Amino acid sequence: MIRLDNISKSYVTNRSSIDALKGVTLEVKKGEIFGVIGYSGAGKSTLIRCVNLLEKPSKGKVFVDGLELTSLSSKKLLASRRKIGMIFQGFNLLKTATVYDNIAIPLRLTGVSKSEIGARVDKYLEIVGLSDKKDAYPSQLSGGQKQRVAIARALSNEPSVLLSDEATSALDPDTTEAILELLLKINDELGITILLITHEMHVIQKVCDRVAVMENGEVVEQGLTKDVFTSP
Ligand code: ADP
Ligand code: ADP
Repeated sequence: MIRLDNISKSYVTNRSSIDALKGVTLEVKKGEIFGVIGYSGAGKSTLIRCVNLLEKPSKGKVFVDGLELTSLSSKKLLASRRKIGMIFQGFNLLKTATVYDNIAIPLRLTGVSKSEIGARVDKYLEIVGLSDKKDAYPSQLSGGQKQRVAIARALSNEPSVLLSDEATSALDPDTTEAILELLLKINDELGITILLITHEMHVIQKVCDRVAVMENGEVVEQGLTKDVFTSP
């Protein structure tokens, strides 16, 4: 479903160049939850942003759902990106828009009809358990509720892949558990493939089928979670 083929990424500033990714190859299979773990600065965020080309790799190829994204024109890339949902540590909601509009606005921009937008907002708010918060503003919601809105927004494009960039890192332990349960449900019931990055081992152990360990821009180990992290 996702294939990163020998991806390198250098950030060049006027004084120096940083090799954030050094030839990373990995494959996420359809229907699995794949985790990338590593310390701060390991290159996780760069890696996940290369999947939807928010960051353009300096070298290598990115395939999602059979399409080589690194070869697409920017117009075709925009269309393909709709099939890739993304959630973030900081939620990235519009403060001045209601929950309804936070989900509806991106759909309006892509030309989804009014009735279809209403139906999708209802459907995905129900899946994330926030049907009663349609008219609330983000400031009236807890962190966990904000992340649920962000998840509903990501799902409303009906993606085949969901990317999660430290989605639980700003949440307390109980809320983290609840959001991880929601990711498991989305994977199981909607069949959405999930790639997540985290610096927290328990996140990997709770939800990931397979895991890659990153250090210094490289994948140093990968395999089934139970094989990579054996319990003592
Ligand atoms: P992680 O997500 O694992 O913390 P990042 O992908 O954010 O790692 O960063 C990997 C390396 O790339 C770090 O050394 C970081 O400082 C550097 N880096 C990340 N983004 C940029 C950028 N926009 N410009 C310059 N250097 C960057
Ligand atoms: P527009 O006419 O600007 O395209 P809509 O007719 O879709 O917008 O919606 C107008 C406003 O009514 C929206 O901005 C939204 O806040 C609100 N709204 C529309 N449908 C619903 C709904 N099912 N539940 C709650 N609020 C809604």
